[in-house]
Amino acid sequence: MARDYYEVLGVSREATDDEIKKAYRRKAMEHHPDRNDGSKRAEAKFKEAAEAYEVLLDPDMRSRYDRFGDAGLKAGTSGGGFGGFHPFDLSEALNIFMRDFGGGGGFEGIFGGRRRSSRDNRRGQDIRISLRLTLEEVAKGKKRKVKIRALERCTTCDGTGAAEGGSTKTCRQCGGTGEVRQATESFFGNFVSVTVCPSCAGEGKTIDHPCRDCLGEGRRRGDKVVEIEIPAGVAENNYLTLRGKGGAGMRGAPPGDLIVGLEFEEDPRFERHGDDLVYDLAVSFSQAALSGDFVVPTPLGDVAVQVPAGSQTGLVLTVRGKGLPSVSHGGRGDLHVRLQVWTPEHLSDEQQSLFRQIAELEGDPPGDESLGRRFWSRMKEAFGG
Ligand SMILES: [Zn+2]
Ligand SMILES: [Zn+2]
Repeated sequence: MARDYYEVLGVSREATDDEIKKAYRRKAMEHHPDRNDGSKRAEAKFKEAAEAYEVLLDPDMRSRYDRFGDAGLKAGTSGGGFGGFHPFDLSEALNIFMRDFGGGGGFEGIFGGRRRSSRDNRRGQDIRISLRLTLEEVAKGKKRKVKIRALERCTTCDGTGAAEGGSTKTCRQCGGTGEVRQATESFFGNFVSVTVCPSCAGEGKTIDHPCRDCLGEGRRRGDKVVEIEIPAGVAENNYLTLRGKGGAGMRGAPPGDLIVGLEFEEDPRFERHGDDLVYDLAVSFSQAALSGDFVVPTPLGDVAVQVPAGSQTGLVLTVRGKGLPSVSHGGRGDLHVRLQVWTPEHLSDEQQSLFRQIAELEGDPPGDESLGRRFWSRMKEAFGG
């Protein structure tokens, strides 16, 4: 990923999706391996264009790339089974091109057959699910088991699609190539078109006795339980890609991926500002005046906080490193404890008389301006501007 993605496609940073699509299509056509006699340089450019296209077309990845560059895309590549973004190999780059521009766009003719995309059709389905996480799960990371309904490898035939005693044979119609050629006469001369073989659906093989349980597909509907490991510090609307954990492929073709979107549950105790958390703490007059020790919750357990003598409502005490962890920059946010001096609503006779005594002894509070200035300068101190 040496070059800037916008530069790779030759578009401005404000480019619309449509401009990005057009630019990518132009680059991909120019550098497509089938048109460049397998030149390694063209292949590299082809892959690079696919990568740029994939990132800039996805609003989430694009905004992370705009903000953090390459680092934004690597966010979350740590931890087991965690996909993140990675440089494409040639087959992925080709798949992207075929996915968006291969179907019905007339490219089959140019690039000699739909062989690749028909293989791709046999790959298992990608499955998307979303998980809701509590703040505690975000802070600590979590292993979750989820039940997924998907096509599973057929156990009767072990995914081969053939019944016991049955076998796969080279397809007679296409001779194992998976494609058939048809000559069509036209005004301009004879056209030879290449299509997916109808007998074997492009596989090049047929089964003489298909498995009864899966009707020769090699896969069946079923439930499976997948364990998902969520690393600590994921960001909201991030997603994890678990390679190969999606639906089973047809007759032993590669499985699809499981894509897990992450949502956060509201936690009424905290206000969130990115990785920082704000907790409102009510303290009594006397605690605010004389100082006091408190225990406040964090997603990683309770912490002790000392309220200094002479604290005002709105004073923010910052406990470093007790907010949420962050996968994008590796650190941990802070916990800000915001004080609210609590005025008692009902006073006993004894309390009333004590407050009267204090009232005779205490001085006047400062004027409006000085109070406001002090409040905001403390807020700034805590939140950095
Ligand atoms: Zn079967
Ligand atoms: Zn065939």
